[in-house]
Order: sequence, then C-alpha cells, then structure tokens
Amino acid sequence: MGIQKKHPASWKTVPNLLNYADVVANFSWNTIRNELQGLPEGRGINIAHEAVDRHAGGPLRDHVALQWLGSDGAERAFTYDDLKRLSNRFANILKELGLGKADTVCALAGRIPELYIAALGVFKNTSVFCPLFSAFGPEPIFQRLSRGDAKLLLTTERYYRQKVSQLMGDLPLLKHVLLVDAPDHLGDDLLSLPRLMAASSDTYLIPPTGAEDIAALHFTSGTTGIPKGALHVHSAALTHYMTGKYVMDFHPEDVFWCTADPGWVTGTSYGIISPLLHGITNVVDEADFDAVRWCRILASRKVSVWYTAPTAIRRFMRMGLEPVREYDLSQLRLIHSVGEPLNPEAVLWGLKAMGLPIHDNWWQTETGGIMIANFPAIEIRPGSMGRPLPGIEAAIVKRSGKDSVTVIEADGVQGELALRPGWPSMFRGYLHDAARYRKCFLGGWYLTGDLAKRDADGYFWFVGRADDIIKTSGHMVGPFEVESVLMAHPAVAEAGVIGKPDPLIGEMVKAFVALKPGFTPSDALRLELIGFARKKLGSAVAPKEIDFTPDLPKNKAGKIMRRLLKARELGLPEGDLSTLEESE
Ligand code: AMP
Repeated sequence: MGIQKKHPASWKTVPNLLNYADVVANFSWNTIRNELQGLPEGRGINIAHEAVDRHAGGPLRDHVALQWLGSDGAERAFTYDDLKRLSNRFANILKELGLGKADTVCALAGRIPELYIAALGVFKNTSVFCPLFSAFGPEPIFQRLSRGDAKLLLTTERYYRQKVSQLMGDLPLLKHVLLVDAPDHLGDDLLSLPRLMAASSDTYLIPPTGAEDIAALHFTSGTTGIPKGALHVHSAALTHYMTGKYVMDFHPEDVFWCTADPGWVTGTSYGIISPLLHGITNVVDEADFDAVRWCRILASRKVSVWYTAPTAIRRFMRMGLEPVREYDLSQLRLIHSVGEPLNPEAVLWGLKAMGLPIHDNWWQTETGGIMIANFPAIEIRPGSMGRPLPGIEAAIVKRSGKDSVTVIEADGVQGELALRPGWPSMFRGYLHDAARYRKCFLGGWYLTGDLAKRDADGYFWFVGRADDIIKTSGHMVGPFEVESVLMAHPAVAEAGVIGKPDPLIGEMVKAFVALKPGFTPSDALRLELIGFARKKLGSAVAPKEIDFTPDLPKNKAGKIMRRLLKARELGLPEGDLSTLEESE
C-alpha cells in the first residue's frame, strides 16, 4: 500500500531519523535547544545568530551559504562570513534610522540577495520581518503595510513607483523606504540601500533577544478572508532546526533548494532559516517557474534536497517524462512537497521521472514549521501527509459545543485536524486581532481549520479545508478525494471540485477539469470521466457535472481557488483576485 524504502543501511547518507517510534519517545525540545548555541553570555536566542553568525565564527566561515541565480544568468555566492557582515551592515542601518525591537520591516522584492540579507539584519536588530509577495497589487500591499504597522519598507525602484508611491499618504507609520537599486538617495525618506550599506559598519552586537521576542509577521494568503497577520518568535528556530534535521534530513554536504517565494511563510522558514541553521548551501533562483530551467538547476547546482509544491510537480507532469530524464539528477536524494494536497499520481511521478518518490508534508502559516510529514527513511503512503513530527501531538477532533472538542479516537473517521499547543514555532497571535487568535483554540487544542483522517498506523490524510467540504445527499464529500480520482484518469491534468447548491440534494459535486495536451473536450470524454469517477468513488461521491476549462484558477501560492470556481459558477462577485495566478 505504501512505498517502502530501500534499507537505510544501503543509503549513501544515513537518515537522521531512522526509527520514528524511538525518536518520538525520546524527544525533548531541550535537547534541540542544546544543539543550537544561544547568544554569548546567556543573552538569549536570536534566529540570525543561530543561522549565520554561529557558523561564520567556526569552520563553516567560508562555506557557501547562499547560492543565488539571477533570472538574467548572473550568479552570486555568499559565504557564511559574507552573510554575517552584510546582515550586520543592514542591522546597523535599521538602528541608525531609529528602528528597534518589535518595529515592523516589510520587504517587497523578488528573490534577490538583498531580501535575504535584510531578513537576517532585521532578526539581528530584534525588529520584525514581514515579507510581501512581489506579485501583489497595491491593494493587498496597502492592507499588509497598514495592518502590519510597517515602519520601513525594502523594495525596488520599479515596485515603489508601480505599487507603493500612491499609498504613502495613507501610511503615516511608514517612515522610510529603502530602494535596493537606487544608486543615490531620492529623498529624505526614500533612501538608497547601496549607499547606506557602503557607509555602515560590518560589525554589530546583537542585543539580548528573548525566546518570545517577535521575529516575523506572516500574513496568510487571504484565500480565507481578510489577511491575518500571524506573529512568530525567535525560538521558532528550534522547530526550523528540528524539521530541517528530521524531515529535510539535512547533512553538512547538502545543497538545498526551496522553490517557495519568501513572500510566503515557506519561503522564509525553509527558504531562509532552516537550511542556514544547518550550515548548508541554500540555492535561490530569482526566476519564475520553468520546467526546463528547473531541471537544469537541479542538475547543474547538484541539488541534493529539493522542497517544492504540488502545482510545480503537476506542471512537470504535463511535460512528460522524457525531457526530465535527459538531466543527470544523480545528486538528488530527497524531494519534498507542501502547500496543498499532493495526489498519489504525483508521488509516483517522482519515482518514474526522477527516480525518487515525493515526500508530502503539512503545515500552515500559523504553525510556523512542518508539523506532519512523510519521513525520508520511512514508508511513504501516497496521498497521505505523513505522521506528526517528534514533539508534535496531532489529533482528529470534533467540535462539541461552544467551548469543547471531542477527540475522535477511531481510525479513518473524518474530523478537524488539531494540534496540542506549545511547539516553539506556533504563532503567538494575530496582530491586532486577539479575538480571532483565541477562537483558534478550544479545549486545549489548536484547531487548524483543515479536515483530515488518521489511519491505523498514525498517517494523516488531508480531506479539505473545513470550509470547502461538500455535503451531498447528507454525505460529506472531500473535494480532494474526488480531484485525486479524476487526476488518475490519463486525460486529466488538473481538477478542481466544488459543492454546487442543489435544491434536492443540498449540494451537487461539480468538477472543473483541465485536460492534458492531446485531449480535447467532448461530451463523450465528459461521460467517460463521470463513469470513471463513479466507478472509483460510488455514485454518492462522484461528480454529477463536469466542465472543461483550459486552466484552473490558482493563487500565487499555487493553490487551486475553489472559492473562485464556486463564485464563477454561481455568478457571485469574485472578490480579491490579486493572489490569482495568470493562466499559462
Ligand atoms: P498557508 O497558511 O497559506 O501555508 O496554507 C496552509 C494550508 O494549506 C493548510 O491549512 C492546508 O489547508 C493546506 N496545506 C498545506 N500543506 C498541505 C498538504 N501537504 N496537503 C494538503 N493541504 C495542505
């Protein structure tokens, strides 16, 4: 039923987690804390010290920390020592501009080196790093700058002119804009980063940093309403380190590539912090998705651990196997995926195309780091998110009354995925929204808003968002289940499933399907797909209607926007579309 791994003893690299039960039983966050260093003289714990300065002061000083690939073919490599000195300069700039502890610094820039240096400098200065996705339009940028109380924005001249300058009058707290590509200052508060960097010192003493000091502010993607700003603390580094060790399975010689944009939480927790905590080389590609370019990067940069997302994998799948097989991916030893359901076909595609299965893992902005994963040394169950991390207690619960939840002990029963609060990277609040934060906790659990099931061996299976679930003829149907089955049909590239209100059966399961190249929409194919799904799912669950569409709408994080499919289907207003992916 699952994908068994070769015996770990035969692996070139022995995995950090060999025996799940043992590691879970003996786990303690104190032990993880002791694998980090802490600021000298007991002055606390600071993410940037653990990620950079600690290595720069030891044998990894000249090891490449950041391997940057520009979209125009340029390349830059930064050692741990380079990163230490550059982030010191940035921290000094913040200090001189009067920014300190708890002041929010936003970054609206693509995947450019300055963004990574700034993030580390912000952590050093105990200010709060808040990345913004550079493809946002002015409205979501405004919401985040203003809800986030941004005091300083790091951006480029182009983004400033296109998206920010017109907002400045309504952002009284935003005192400074640093332009990464302006050779000279353009005004009192519109400053040239290169000039300031050149003039500032490359030594900096990190101030005392409490484990509970706020380090980052991540706005959730906005598919579930107005953006919520999740606050994360410096001790989150313990989760980033621990998951780097047990899920990513980092080893000193690794070259890691996380394809997520730092505008989203994955791009910060795993695109910046986790690999640096482990002192390895972190690849950053400035360009957008391009399957051929990505194959070339995997091969030429000798990437050994790759963290990507289902949408990217599905795009690869469309390309077919042959183009991928042309590349020498012999250095690659682990592929991980996150962010949305990873269909079993995608897991198996990894095996066929790259010789490696894809390991799905689950977490969300609020959890700050990976909570559930398919571990490298352990059987993968395709379609499952895996098992909880050591130190993480997960359960399937049912809300029972206003103030309590009941834990569902039985296997295979659908309920809400809940986590026992207390892991270090758990969000500490929604900025300015204490009530919303409190509502996330019930009966001693943090409720994730996701629906899932757990099997007899403790693997968790994603069903859907609590608000995406379909009720049809009294039966609960998870859209993901239906989409997975449709995707198993050879003609289907992608599928999105919604509940369409129906006067007779409550909601009818409706599917929107994008076909693979070489297939054309027809009534015959529609009937075939309905029959195929009915056979696999039963008539109560299978879609009753299928619409063909050239492409499914996705947000910038690559998630299929069922919300939008539903709105379009019902002729309702489409809402904020700024996170929508343009069609290919
Ligand atoms: P975000 O906070 O934007 O990172 O989105 C988190 C949400 O993405 C989760 O609550 C899930 O609904 C979804 N998600 C993340 N990882 C997975 C996964 N491996 N499988 C299914 N859904 C996922």
